[in-house]
Amino acid sequence: MKKPRIVLDVDGVLCDFQTPALDTIERLTGRRPSVDVYDFLEGFADYEKADCWAAMNERGFCEGLNPYPGARAFVDDLRKLGRVVFATAPMRGLTWEGERRRWIVDHMGAAWGDVASVPDKTLVSGEAFIDDHPEHVRDWRAHHDGLALLFDRPFNRAADDLRHVRAADYAEAIWRVTTYLEGKPT
Ligand SMILES: [Mg+2]
Repeated sequence: MKKPRIVLDVDGVLCDFQTPALDTIERLTGRRPSVDVYDFLEGFADYEKADCWAAMNERGFCEGLNPYPGARAFVDDLRKLGRVVFATAPMRGLTWEGERRRWIVDHMGAAWGDVASVPDKTLVSGEAFIDDHPEHVRDWRAHHDGLALLFDRPFNRAADDLRHVRAADYAEAIWRVTTYLEGKPT
């Protein structure tokens, strides 16, 4: 029997990118975006956006990000259901991708090769896909037959088109993946 593959996004699902991003924006501009806005630099001037992105692309920024509480246990629980692979969209800094891959290996116990560094998540196939970005979930669902789950965060509620299957937390995501895989013919 083929082992199911579960494709996991990193930022917003396992890794708290938002908090240090908002800290950086506040430090550089004096204004802190709301936690419920997905595009946190919306409304800022181009020069402010450029400065903030440059700071978030600096060496060490990605490496210093924290996992959300329970993230590693969530990944370990998913590993009981199938092979977990990570699909993460890299930023453009010269050190970003290397730091991200090492972050996933160190914090999530991943094999070095189980990380796909791709802006277009539809390139990664699997039986289940979990992401916090409504457009990524929509696009993946358009290309694959598996279960596509939108992981709930305050910043993706307004952007959701309401057609997504939404997981409120790690426990619900585990339940939905388990139920889907059990009902799927092998
Ligand atoms: Mg994400």
